[in-house]
Amino acid sequence: MKINAFTTVSRRSFLAYCGGTAVAAAITMPSVMARGDDAPFRAGIACVDITPELPVSMVGGFRDRTATGVHDPLHARCIVLDNGEAQLALVMVDNCLIQRPVFEAAKKRIQEKTGLSPDRVLAAATHTHTGVTVTSVFQSDPVPGYADFLAERIAEAVDTAVKALEPAQIAWGSGAVPGEVFNRRWYMKDGTIPPNPFGATTDKVQMNPPRASENLVEPSGPTDPTVSILALRRPDGTPLAVLANYSLHYVGDTEAAVLSADYYGFFADKLASLMAPAASGKPFLAMMSNGTSGNINNVNFGEAGVAGPPYSRMSAVAESVANEVFQRYQQLEFKDTAVLASATREITLGVRKPAAGELERARAIVAAAEGPDMKTSEEVFARESILLADFPDAVPVPLQALRIGDLGIAAIPCEVFVEIGLALRNESPFKNTFTIELANGYNGYLPTAEHHALGGYETWRARSSYLEVAAAEKIQETMQALLAEVKS
Ligand SMILES: [Zn+2]
Repeated sequence: MKINAFTTVSRRSFLAYCGGTAVAAAITMPSVMARGDDAPFRAGIACVDITPELPVSMVGGFRDRTATGVHDPLHARCIVLDNGEAQLALVMVDNCLIQRPVFEAAKKRIQEKTGLSPDRVLAAATHTHTGVTVTSVFQSDPVPGYADFLAERIAEAVDTAVKALEPAQIAWGSGAVPGEVFNRRWYMKDGTIPPNPFGATTDKVQMNPPRASENLVEPSGPTDPTVSILALRRPDGTPLAVLANYSLHYVGDTEAAVLSADYYGFFADKLASLMAPAASGKPFLAMMSNGTSGNINNVNFGEAGVAGPPYSRMSAVAESVANEVFQRYQQLEFKDTAVLASATREITLGVRKPAAGELERARAIVAAAEGPDMKTSEEVFARESILLADFPDAVPVPLQALRIGDLGIAAIPCEVFVEIGLALRNESPFKNTFTIELANGYNGYLPTAEHHALGGYETWRARSSYLEVAAAEKIQETMQALLAEVKS
């Protein structure tokens, strides 16, 4: 598939879908406004369509799925901040998992186009499970050409936002939506957890247990109900942009075989419509980032589920979160400028590779499988073990902290357990702190050492979970150092 093909689709659908006409206007606005002493702080927004031509592979399940339709288009959404001394760009991409080379290619293009250095850009996947495969996980492999297209599109989003910089005021704060987040790893009655794919019965918790089961004991950890908000408005008071952050894995009540941005896209649309009267026709962009949701989803396991029509759950979640953000927005204290800083550090973490005996068992399982697709979870994880055997013994992991006034943002390239986000916030030197997961790369799940001891899906060795047991502790320690660095 050629890049041109993607480009054609993208151009056609951009104006129609990117948050309505208000946001579409952002790319046609005259470029940089004249700077003056009365406008020390500026912000720019952009929203770029990244929907591919069909059919395409969708990552996010044990078996590959093919999308043959589009429910709602996929986007890369961008906010650029400029305080006259420094710039920062934040980009949220409707995708499940984006590997580091894609982000690095995008950042290289951003630097070429805008001069913004890579450490000043935070780009992350939202974690919609109905996006395009751009990273090999389980039985999905990257859609040819899409990585290059995506990198170019991310760069285009930042370039467009830089060109749209206009005088702005900035605020940050938070609210809470406790009703839409549930811990998905449960302690179960003795002997009721099935053996794991490695043939062991050592798991002490079960991910996504049967709802309302009599075998449920209790969740193995907390949730984080916080909705964090970074908001921008024009000096005339019209809203310009909101970046929100909520610790929810995804919602996922889509139809089969159809691309969707999940609740992240629904949230952006809902908040845009709530803001529309105040925006009075001027461009406004909302974007949702994923917090620390490695063990958090939208399923209330304690109660039996009532299945609604497709998209009804994600729509309801988006509405709850958008309403909360809209209400909190009214109470925010906007400032005329803010300190902008970033710090990055790469750390090296060990890889949990299969031992010789484990590899031998895996090879026997795959050899006996009917194929070509692996069907049972035993087969799927056996194949993963074989692929992981070729991984290096240690991998570099990029970490980043941003400072925006008295707001600290931690960026981690993993599906981060909620305990880590809560701890980072508690120990942060900033009044407000949140973590954006799946940022700047992809290094699988990040359970705490305690959760590794409990076992369960997120700890099972695979290309979706391979960092050493001490990874969470090391990443948390480095993130604290980076937050302190940008604070000073
Ligand atoms: Zn996931």
